[in-house]
Amino acid sequence: MEDISTMDKFIKALREAQYCIVFTGAGVSTLSGIQDFRGEKGLYKKVDADKIFDLSYFHQDPSYYYRNSKDFIYDLEEKEPNIIHQEIARLEKIGIVKAVITQNIDLLHQKAGSVKVIAVHGSPEVHKCLECGRNFTFREISRVVQRDELPTCDSCGGIIKPEITFFGEMLPAGALEQAIAESSRADLMVVLGSSLVVQPAASFPLYTLENGGQMIIVNNMATPLDSRAFLRCQDLYTLFAYTREHI
Ligand code: ZN
Repeated sequence: MEDISTMDKFIKALREAQYCIVFTGAGVSTLSGIQDFRGEKGLYKKVDADKIFDLSYFHQDPSYYYRNSKDFIYDLEEKEPNIIHQEIARLEKIGIVKAVITQNIDLLHQKAGSVKVIAVHGSPEVHKCLECGRNFTFREISRVVQRDELPTCDSCGGIIKPEITFFGEMLPAGALEQAIAESSRADLMVVLGSSLVVQPAASFPLYTLENGGQMIIVNNMATPLDSRAFLRCQDLYTLFAYTREHI
């Protein structure tokens, strides 16, 4: 729970911000039934984290990724945005939030109606054949994965990879540049549901701080940047239920 004065400070900071950027991690999606990778019941407790998103392992055996992501990526059409996604989208619509930078690959910000979403770890929206470069939609691929089959390219038989950033891959350059530019410009950076440990994404708030902006962190676990936040909250749900009533 948050106390009222903390929540009022949050509202005031949002209202006064000239250029507010939101940075989101897995914590904003757990209410939608998306598994958090690193949390207590995290996905990484069930599957081998060194393998599922590892690029060289994917080349060796793409079926490991597809088999294990069937029930947390290729079932995303059944998942719905929650109050936090909805509030972020609404705050963008009324001009308070200027962009969302997300580490998440679940497409729920877009589904909630956020327009400017910078997906710094890529997204499964597009899949690409590693041989001929042909693109496939999420829907085309999820249909195959849900049948427990391995998707391969219709044109050349090549392996198809989602445009999610795997370990061993560079972050998408365009998204990275945009995220740095938006973070640097922000006078208010609101970090939501990220433990700020995965680099370089976790360093985006530093661009805000270095350019004289302020930072708010809302997360149920400690983060390495807690001491630099001017407001530190724990409970996303309570906070955004309050925001919905007061902005
Ligand atoms: Zn191909």
